[in-house]
Amino acid sequence: MKKQFKSESKRLLDLMIHSIYTNKDIFLRELISNASDALDKLYYQSLTDKKIKVRKNTLKIELSLDKDKRSITISDNGCGMNKEELETNLGTIAKSGTLAFKEMMDKDPKDGVDIIGQFGVGFYSAFMVSKKIEVDSKKDDEDSYIWISDGVDGYTIKKSTKDTRGTSITLYLKDDTDDENYSNYLDEYKINELVKKYSDYISYPIKMECLTRKLKEGSKDEYEDVREVQTLNSMVPIWKKPAGEVTDDEYNSFYKDRYYDFNDPLKVITTSVEGMTSYKAILFIPSKVPYDFYNKDYEKGLALYSNGVMIMDKCKELVPDYFSFIKGVVDTEDLSLNISREMLQQTKTVEIIAKNIENKINKELLKMLKEDRETYNKFYEAFGTGLKFGVYNNFGMNKDKLKDLLMFYSAKNKKNITLSEYVKGMKKDQTEIYYASGNSVEAIDKLPQVEQVKDKDYDILYLTDYVDEFCLNTLMKYDEKSFKNVSDGKLDLESDKEKEKIKKENDEHKELLDFLKDNLDVCEVRFTNKLKKHPVCFTSRGEVSIEMEKVINAMPTDENIKSEKILEINKNHKIADKIKKLYKNDKDELLKYAKILYNEACLIEGLPVEDPVELSNLISEIMAK
Ligand code: ADP
Repeated sequence: MKKQFKSESKRLLDLMIHSIYTNKDIFLRELISNASDALDKLYYQSLTDKKIKVRKNTLKIELSLDKDKRSITISDNGCGMNKEELETNLGTIAKSGTLAFKEMMDKDPKDGVDIIGQFGVGFYSAFMVSKKIEVDSKKDDEDSYIWISDGVDGYTIKKSTKDTRGTSITLYLKDDTDDENYSNYLDEYKINELVKKYSDYISYPIKMECLTRKLKEGSKDEYEDVREVQTLNSMVPIWKKPAGEVTDDEYNSFYKDRYYDFNDPLKVITTSVEGMTSYKAILFIPSKVPYDFYNKDYEKGLALYSNGVMIMDKCKELVPDYFSFIKGVVDTEDLSLNISREMLQQTKTVEIIAKNIENKINKELLKMLKEDRETYNKFYEAFGTGLKFGVYNNFGMNKDKLKDLLMFYSAKNKKNITLSEYVKGMKKDQTEIYYASGNSVEAIDKLPQVEQVKDKDYDILYLTDYVDEFCLNTLMKYDEKSFKNVSDGKLDLESDKEKEKIKKENDEHKELLDFLKDNLDVCEVRFTNKLKKHPVCFTSRGEVSIEMEKVINAMPTDENIKSEKILEINKNHKIADKIKKLYKNDKDELLKYAKILYNEACLIEGLPVEDPVELSNLISEIMAK
């Protein structure tokens, strides 16, 4: 009886049959990788279940081509599937990648088509090239069953005669069209090439009978063509090969195939450690932020192998959160294959490897920063925010490890610089590291508070990422120099003489300033001599800066935080004289001016104006005078 595919699978199948994806070659990789998983599974079972007896060196994948029937068969002697498993595994979408792909298609089918290559498309990809597929399978000593489908409207399952454990998948190729030459896949040479390209590191032999040219027996120079079973893959996983023997191209294509990325990795890091704990690792820094990096389902982690056999696809204990962009593989002989996930978390081995790997990444990044700034800039653009969070998270526990990897935009250099570079460039009389926050470099550059620091010829770090200020606050100091916000009310850059002068001015007008303070939402109003042409600005006192107030209040929590603001009025601006006069003659009018000045400072800081209608009326009223 014919059964229907589950509806979600149907849609995906439809896409596969109508071949939206141009790289059809990958079907072979997908089926071989499933076969390899089935062999892994069986071997793994044999380690934990004494009843299952398997000799590792008998495990293999076999390919055969039949030109007459236009078919390819991929067989393995792995765990096999019983009737129920054929039904559930092949009748529904199992693979997480496939599911993610389906979700993406549901959201925006157009985008999905472009990025399908980033997903493992699994068993169904075989329908891109086949008009009919048969999956003949036997599990342990259960009966064998064959699953048959033309992919369009369902499948049938019936008893079969297969008498050895494992799975044999036969694809009946589609007919050739003007655009597609499916017969290609019946060519031994083509299949050989595809296996080498996509599945070379599969740790089981992939065997196929091929035509080979050999010396005739007994002859020294006469050749003959014979058919002979050959192993097509080299089987040595790329991370087990000596680093010098692997080309950049090989690393790059390993990365791209395995992590479904179109781009070469930004950096490949290989490491091989022998000692109390021995392991080999190959790590990649992607060149772009992975498409799902900011999804809550994004899982960090490295694949963990025990001597060539995968234990876990994503072992999250192997990389800290701030390096969650790192992809790669760790292979160690010091873990037994049948270790459970829970045990894994407690073993010292994983902890030691994780520590080493963290140090290695750190070292490589520092090296890149020093020797190849251009690449580091690209890296930082993609993943720098994560490092800053790394400093800030866990109460700054990791700040010392990360502080030298940080960069911020320097007003003087007009590009990102490190904190150590900032300190090196500090003026003789400068004791603190200055920074200013805002939405963009251009916006910060116009801030009145920046002027005075620039006048002193001190550099300023411009913070435009919302985590920046929290990051610096967590660091507290770098190289014994503390960080100072240019909007801090106690900037203390004036000479003693200037200080004296402004103090006098403020004392003289204390009554006026207090009157303004009492009528505005600030903790102080004062005259200042640090603003050159600007009439007013805010500075703040205490822990919470104005930028932090903005960031925290923009977060979707109930938390509402206010900075303690000081309204500073330029004592040399005409407006200062005006308000002094108004204080004497017309207090009502003064309050209107004060409101406008207060709102001007809000606008400069990017803070919301509380009552825009009132403000606009006030401005018009004064303009009309
Ligand atoms: P995935 O391999 O990611 O789970 P697939 O759609 O490729 O997704 O395969 C679905 C399921 O079918 C697999 O999870 C596995 O249980 C089963 N399967 C596929 N091929 C084989 C095979 N050769 N031997 C045993 N089981 C297989």
